[in-house]
Amino acid sequence: MATTQIEPSSEVDDMTDMTDMTDMTDTSEMTSPPPILDVRGVKKVYEDASRTVEAIRDLTFSVESGELACIVGPSGAGKTTLLKIIAGLLDPTDGEVVLEGERVTGTPAGMAVVFQEYGRSLFPWMTVWQNVELPLKEKKVAAAERRRLVQAALEAVGLADVPAAHPWQLSGGMQQRVAIARAVAYEPHILLMDEPFAAVDAQTRADLEDLVRSLWRRLGVTVLFVTHDIDESVYLGQRVIVLSSSPTVVMADVAIDLPDDRDQLTTRSAPRFTELRSQVYELIQQAKRGHRPAAATVSSTES
Ligand code: ADP
Repeated sequence: MATTQIEPSSEVDDMTDMTDMTDMTDTSEMTSPPPILDVRGVKKVYEDASRTVEAIRDLTFSVESGELACIVGPSGAGKTTLLKIIAGLLDPTDGEVVLEGERVTGTPAGMAVVFQEYGRSLFPWMTVWQNVELPLKEKKVAAAERRRLVQAALEAVGLADVPAAHPWQLSGGMQQRVAIARAVAYEPHILLMDEPFAAVDAQTRADLEDLVRSLWRRLGVTVLFVTHDIDESVYLGQRVIVLSSSPTVVMADVAIDLPDDRDQLTTRSAPRFTELRSQVYELIQQAKRGHRPAAATVSSTES
């Protein structure tokens, strides 16, 4: 049932048609579909016998379907904690995460996650093909469809020629491509990425950034990309959500009004890129100095 939802829903078109047919009475609510992801008042306090850490105080933001949003914040700001909560791997102390209208209480069906540690997320005894295929088997996708999805995903990440290799025979960048292929083959509605390129060299990182943008544009999948790298967040995102230092709130939500066609040379040398980068950099510096926005949260939920 959830296998072919990558294309944006046709509901928007249907609603547009309906608005055309009706008179001009209140159509405003019909034109904007609900966000795919709603993070509402999320708080996380870690407690053990010896200490209590308020990692996240109050995070509220939403992500629209088809958006590529980045989350950036100082080290220790709670980015990984937030991502685990969104992925249903960790319970919030307070607040909730709503994905496609459903409260997240476990790993959601329409979500795939790519972690930084590709070395630990791939099974070394399985081939590239088997690693990508595994979640599809667990999802009970039929064999012929599995073959089609795995082949298409490996082609999409440029690994169609190494299906029989084992992860340990590949470079770090190639292993992360396998992890991305596995996520893409699963046809998620939302793709979460937790500092996925932190462990690869600069050139590979640039290639992988471009891969993410091209997959996002081609597949229409919603992407939430967590990074501590300011330049990466501006280069990739349509929007950068800046987190404060822990206990964390949203510092700012910066719209990245760069053209959709981006490339490492032209985009990164554009004056507007430099301005946006400086803006986000300054916000992170403020966050590190302990500055917090006057209103503790930015409220964007409408429900
Ligand atoms: P980031 O990913 O932004 O670096 P984290 O989410 O890893 O931040 O951590 C946020 C804060 O929560 C840090 O102060 C960290 O020490 C603390 N923390 C993270 N995980 C745990 C845990 N399992 N138990 C206790 N404290 C934790």
